Amino acid sequence: MIDYSFVLGVALSSFLICLVNIIYTFIQGRTDKTQNKIFLTIYIILAINSVTEICSGLFGTESFLSDSAFMVIKVSKYVYFATHTILCPLFYYYVSNISFASTRLSNRKAIIISIPMLLTELMALTNPLTHFIWRFDSAGYHREFGMTFIYMAALLYYAMAIVVMVNSWSILSKKRRRALIFFVIMVPAGIIIQLVDKALRVEVLTEILGLSGVMMSIENEDERIYSGTRFYNRSALGLDIGGCLMHNRKMSLIMIHINNHDIINRLVDNRENNVIIDMVSGYIMTVVKRYQVYVSDRSTFVLTLYDEESDKADKKADDILKRFDAAWEYKDFSIMLNATVMVADIPTHIKTVSELFYMLDGNEISSEEKRVLRDDDLGFIMRKQSIEEALSRGFNENSYEVYYQPTYNLDGSLHGAEALIRINDKELGRLFPDEFIPVAEQSGLIDDIDEFVLDEVCKFIKTGIPSKYGLSCINVNLSVVHCMRPGFVEDIIGIVDKYGIKKKRINFEITESIAAGDYEIFKNIISRLRKEGFLFSMDDYGTGYSNVNSIFSLDFDVIKIDKSILWGADENELGMTILENTIRMIQQMKRKILVEGVETKEQKEMLEKLKVDYLQGYYFSKPIPKNDFVKLISIDKARKLM
Ligand code: C2E
Ligand code: CA
Ligand code: CA
Repeated sequence: MIDYSFVLGVALSSFLICLVNIIYTFIQGRTDKTQNKIFLTIYIILAINSVTEICSGLFGTESFLSDSAFMVIKVSKYVYFATHTILCPLFYYYVSNISFASTRLSNRKAIIISIPMLLTELMALTNPLTHFIWRFDSAGYHREFGMTFIYMAALLYYAMAIVVMVNSWSILSKKRRRALIFFVIMVPAGIIIQLVDKALRVEVLTEILGLSGVMMSIENEDERIYSGTRFYNRSALGLDIGGCLMHNRKMSLIMIHINNHDIINRLVDNRENNVIIDMVSGYIMTVVKRYQVYVSDRSTFVLTLYDEESDKADKKADDILKRFDAAWEYKDFSIMLNATVMVADIPTHIKTVSELFYMLDGNEISSEEKRVLRDDDLGFIMRKQSIEEALSRGFNENSYEVYYQPTYNLDGSLHGAEALIRINDKELGRLFPDEFIPVAEQSGLIDDIDEFVLDEVCKFIKTGIPSKYGLSCINVNLSVVHCMRPGFVEDIIGIVDKYGIKKKRINFEITESIAAGDYEIFKNIISRLRKEGFLFSMDDYGTGYSNVNSIFSLDFDVIKIDKSILWGADENELGMTILENTIRMIQQMKRKILVEGVETKEQKEMLEKLKVDYLQGYYFSKPIPKNDFVKLISIDKARKLM
């Protein structure tokens, strides 16, 4: 026996939950994306289904139905099937949409996929004529043969949704995965409960509850939003582009980079992080919709154009650049923004997410004179690919080589050397670290490179040659990316211990460029290695990464003033003042100073007057292969230069 008051109670609560969630979705303004629209349609259908269930609940109790009540029951059955039939297809479209699998109707595959839905829907709509799915007779309601088709079609879409989900697993955030699993479990759970006991009519309710989970975790996009804006953030960009690549979706990206962002942020007020975004967001939303915009950092935007829209990318990029010829208003300021606009097609120009980030972060962007970059200009992304290949084959083919550049005391005697890595690749020829180190840092190969250099240096020290010619230590560069990796300290100690050399013979150079959050970990790593006896130098002091505080708290032995500061002193009075004051300050902090990039006699003499401790640069020697270096130190060329 069916307990109709139970049916009524469940149906009423189902309807209320639907109503509340639909209203909430509107209040949150989550209605503009296709994803939102599919979601809302599913909810509206479930609300309608709840109403038809309410009707069953109301009239099902009466044993003798009046004609009008019978009519209501019939109509509500009709509406139930006409709407419920498209729920599973809609769920499939929803999953496809959030995974960036294209579901355009112009696409032949998409049409084929829609056929079962169209057929079953046609069956549901024409049932009053055909009685193919269900019918009423004097004995009541009966399910007919066609019902099997309805269930099979539903099962098909449900299975396809799961396939898309599994295929797209890597581009779904954890939160999304959990919500989808929850939904996928809730739907059959309701059906099974109902199969076990016909009286427990909870199918619609469990679907609604499953969907609430989807609402809380997928429709709510807080984690994808760049804080303080309505646009998406970098991690959303990575996931979404990953989805497009995975499903071979045709798309174009327009990247806008504001070259003078530093000055603008200083000019306005540094604390207002989103100045540039606030300035241009109104305009950008006239070019594309809000949800097609990603903010990579506070001076770089990425606009995404999907499917046919991507053909307009070039035209849009030109328009954007034209707009940047005029000033922008911000509070009382009228500001000129210097922008580089880049157009890239997926998958023609960008084949992986890491290539995308390489494109976004590369210096190539701002150093280019031409301002709209497209096609051939994007060759550097291809170049990155080939460099990555050269890096990985390098270890098998012995193409890595350590060069040495000597460093000197002020009296002209030899002080030490810096080890600098080179690659002699069979295809690409000689490669320099400025180009391949960033690629190695992104691909994770940096660990192997740093450890290879350290190993070579230890081997060299072990020969006894460096100390014989008065080298107190050899400097080895370490990438911060590498330092932060678990097991780093043990690996380093392991390599040096293998050769049994004194640890104070190694001086690690680090450019301090860490996020504040990682600072404590970093400090701890350095202090552990210092306790072992290693020396440390702060590299590239004055380039904007380094921070005066760290000189003290990280306990560096030597501060290496970047060559740009030295060269700045040659340029003008201000540059000279900066150099002098930098040196004075570090001296007051009682740290040793090394100045790199010494290219002329004048620079050398100036630094002697300023009483720095060590010098390094082309004036003395370029970085050279080990054998040449041994020759150089043995004839002590430096003394002759004095
Ligand atoms: P860096 O540590 O600042 O190294 C100094 C760079 O300045 C070297 O470039 C050196 O050749 C160059 N240099 C030295 N004196 C002069 C000079 O008088 N004039 C000019 N114009 N340049 C001079 P290099 O070897 O191309 O290295 C570039 C960067 O690559 C290094 O900058 C360092 O950050 C990185 N690097 C090099 N080897 C390694 C390594 O083994 N591991 C890691 N993690 N990074 C490395
Ligand atoms: Ca260095
Ligand atoms: Ca440097």
